[in-house]
Amino acid sequence: MSKVIVIGAGAAGMMAAISAAKSRHQVLLLEKNEKLGKKLYITGKGRCNVTNACDADKLFENVVSNPKFLYSAFNAFDNIQLMQLIEAAGCKLKTERGDRVFPVSDHSSDIIAALKRILIKENVEVRFNAKVTGLITKPLINEEDEADGNDAAVKDAHKAGATARIIGVCTEDGAKEYADAVILATGGLSYPSTGSDGDGYRMAQRSGHKIKECRPALAPFETTEKWCADLQGLSLKNVSLVMYDGTKKVYQGFGEMLFTHFGVSGPLILSASSFYGKCRKKEAVTLEFDLKPALDEEQLDKRILRDFEENKNKQFKNSLSGLFPSKLIPVMIKLSGIEPERNVNAVTKEERRTFVRMIKHMKLHVSAVRGFDEAIITQGGVSVKDVNPSTMESKIVSGLYMAGELLDLDALTGGFNLQIAWSTGYLAGASVPARFC
Ligand SMILES: Cc1cc2nc3c(=O)[nH]c(=O)nc-3n(C[C@H](O)[C@H](O)[C@H](O)COP(=O)(O)OP(=O)(O)OC[C@H]3O[C@@H](n4cnc5c(N)ncnc54)[C@H](O)[C@@H]3O)c2cc1C
Repeated sequence: MSKVIVIGAGAAGMMAAISAAKSRHQVLLLEKNEKLGKKLYITGKGRCNVTNACDADKLFENVVSNPKFLYSAFNAFDNIQLMQLIEAAGCKLKTERGDRVFPVSDHSSDIIAALKRILIKENVEVRFNAKVTGLITKPLINEEDEADGNDAAVKDAHKAGATARIIGVCTEDGAKEYADAVILATGGLSYPSTGSDGDGYRMAQRSGHKIKECRPALAPFETTEKWCADLQGLSLKNVSLVMYDGTKKVYQGFGEMLFTHFGVSGPLILSASSFYGKCRKKEAVTLEFDLKPALDEEQLDKRILRDFEENKNKQFKNSLSGLFPSKLIPVMIKLSGIEPERNVNAVTKEERRTFVRMIKHMKLHVSAVRGFDEAIITQGGVSVKDVNPSTMESKIVSGLYMAGELLDLDALTGGFNLQIAWSTGYLAGASVPARFC
């Protein structure tokens, strides 16, 4: 029986351990925390949006970086298979708005408990407080390799261009664990307190893999407009947003946004942030909101005119309560340039038209994206060019497999990032060749 070591007991690592064990390998899962799935526990605000029940096309559409790399992984283990596996392990699931799938109990702990039951059933040995500090590899081209009876594996690896093969890992306590295959599933850099703090990148880099620059994504934006702080806590539903990189449109969406003490957040902003990393003119990234997307400029002008007529003898500042939440009114007045005390009768047609344009094109300038402490996902990571998409095996180190957020893969919110972890983890575990057995 061959031995497989999986590093990291997050979503990808647990799934990799399960699928390697199902393929009749002896599996040791090493986790530096004291428990399984510390990040999984906080996903979906503690409810765990475990996947998305959409069709295959939508699955790919929601992947931001390197969707094509995921063809084999999604094919090997898709959202339907994930749902069947979790339900068969005793955790009932439900599908909500936008095809988002959650446990019926609304407790992420129930997903972790289901995975734990499968790990036990499949005889996976799990070792906690086991921080892996390095990969043990040996060069491929030497006499020992030719003589150790593993000729077929060596020949395949050579053909694929690998220069080394994995033989084990070292742990923090100085111990060495030897194995026929190692699956690296240490996650990215976001929410480092959950354990994913970049160890995997360092190990992958030391063994010759390229790391694409890591950036926080699905994260809030800081803006140069300091008035956002005055609106802290105010959320606006049903607004539309266009994000520009200079003059180039890089994102367009509709939904809910939230003002914060540093700028803006909320689902719409998080999605936009996934396209910020690829902007070329970071200093010129702007957000343009349409606060009344249901009305065109003409209709909105008529609506404001009607409000003005109903509030004939009122001041401008007292005529906008039908249009905006009260917290937003002082800011909109300031941006309009119209004196708040002016009687609405005295607001000119031109001023009203300018006001309409401002509501339909409210601009904010992005000064930065918030850091990894607040980012749902890491964009960048181990270059997918160094990994075989059909197996998740490294092209550089034979017998080393990689899965999950560690790789340069990321998606929008909706359960897609976890599906990437499940699918790549499953494929990695299932790809460890039977020839080692
Ligand atoms: C707040 C938050 C909410 C989220 N909500 C959702 C959601 O609802 N739906 C969704 O699809 N996605 C969500 N995500 C994203 C999702 O959590 C990740 O995409 C997913 O967890 C990645 O899985 P992973 O196994 O690759 O990495 P991780 O889950 O980060 O697991 C990596 C594991 O490796 C361990 N490890 C690291 N280094 C070592 C080492 N040297 N030795 C041993 N072990 C090590 C870590 O301790 C960790 O347990 C959310 C993320 C955050 C931060």
